[in-house]
Amino acid sequence: MSSCSADRFEVASTGRPIDPSPLLRDHTTLRVGGAADRFVVAGSEAELISIVTDCDERGVPVLILGGGSNLLVADAGFPGTVVRVANTGIEADVSACGGAAVRVAAGVDWDDFVAHAVAQEWCGIETLSGIPGSVGATPIQNVGAYGAEVAQTISSVRTWDRRDRAQKTFPVVDCGFGYRTSRFKREPGRYVVLEVSYQFTLGNLSRPIAYSELAGRLGVEVGARVDSRLVREKVLEIRRGKGMVLDPSDHDTWSAGSFFTNPILDADAAGALPDDAPRFPAGGGRVKTSAAWLIQHAGFSRGYGNARAALSGKHVLALTNRGGASAADLVEVAGQVRAGVAERFGVTLVPEVNLIGLELPEASS
Ligand SMILES: Cc1cc2nc3c(=O)[nH]c(=O)nc-3n(C[C@H](O)[C@H](O)[C@H](O)COP(=O)(O)OP(=O)(O)OC[C@H]3O[C@@H](n4cnc5c(N)ncnc54)[C@H](O)[C@@H]3O)c2cc1C
Repeated sequence: MSSCSADRFEVASTGRPIDPSPLLRDHTTLRVGGAADRFVVAGSEAELISIVTDCDERGVPVLILGGGSNLLVADAGFPGTVVRVANTGIEADVSACGGAAVRVAAGVDWDDFVAHAVAQEWCGIETLSGIPGSVGATPIQNVGAYGAEVAQTISSVRTWDRRDRAQKTFPVVDCGFGYRTSRFKREPGRYVVLEVSYQFTLGNLSRPIAYSELAGRLGVEVGARVDSRLVREKVLEIRRGKGMVLDPSDHDTWSAGSFFTNPILDADAAGALPDDAPRFPAGGGRVKTSAAWLIQHAGFSRGYGNARAALSGKHVLALTNRGGASAADLVEVAGQVRAGVAERFGVTLVPEVNLIGLELPEASS
């Protein structure tokens, strides 16, 4: 006879009022972007599917919007329907043997969910504290920070497949997760994430701390396990120091987080970098280096840019709106940084941010 007990309960998620303004600058953390032809808030999964299907049948372009924290939208806006994902709800099956199997609606705020998981002693996402946006967007680029990524705790992702007009659920092994990528990102726009399922172990200790800066701030060795509440606190503290927690009064946080991904290079390209460039094994003989290091060593320091658009004063990897930036202003500075890195190191930086109706100028190395 099993000694496991199972509890099933529902938790209402934070309902935040959503401004129905069609201006994308009102819905993105970079605070730029013109109007959408139509802006709709989908408060339930059924609504989400119905709005998207209706647009698809009529050939109307669709932009799925979560928290707008990974988007740079053109000043001309979006020539179609923007659908803000706002379905909510968290459901958990918790058992002493099996841990917590948790299903979360795509529209739930990610950091509210992390705070909830830490409070419930569901272990595994505590180092992903403070990342803005929605749960449904996290599988798109396999959100990660401080040595963890969502791929480590996601068990499956339930989607609406716009091409086949059917619901499809992908177990984690079929999500194609990699560094800041997934099958959902590789086929942009095809899948609408409806719900994400996680499998957590139970307990108040974090996963082993894998990131040396975080271990140092916690005063432990890499590999140690620490009270998850303390890990969340420390991560939020570190992130605030880098302008990586949203704060309306701090222009260094008017960003989309890291603007570029860390480049993954083949052995020859990595070998051509200066000896002191960071190098981390990335599998298959490839090497990951640091975009921030390349930017700094190509001569771009914090604050580089102009009065409207500039690199953050706290972190060169974040491009920020200083108050009156247009999308064109941000693209100009991003283009200069990318061209400078290509010229100095022969590496073309790839945007992590999703560009809507925009392209960066070519960077020739
Ligand atoms: C200050 C700051 C710090 C950040 N720090 C990090 C970090 O540490 N690590 C990290 O990985 N990212 C970080 N980011 C980037 C961003 O927060 C994440 O990528 C986040 O997951 C985006 O969520 P969102 O809901 O805001 O997505 P949005 O910006 O609204 O959308 C991003 C993309 O996902 C698509 N999308 C959104 N929801 C769905 C859905 N339900 N179904 C299908 N497609 C969807 C959109 O169409 C778009 O292509 C940071 C951003 C900011 C502003």
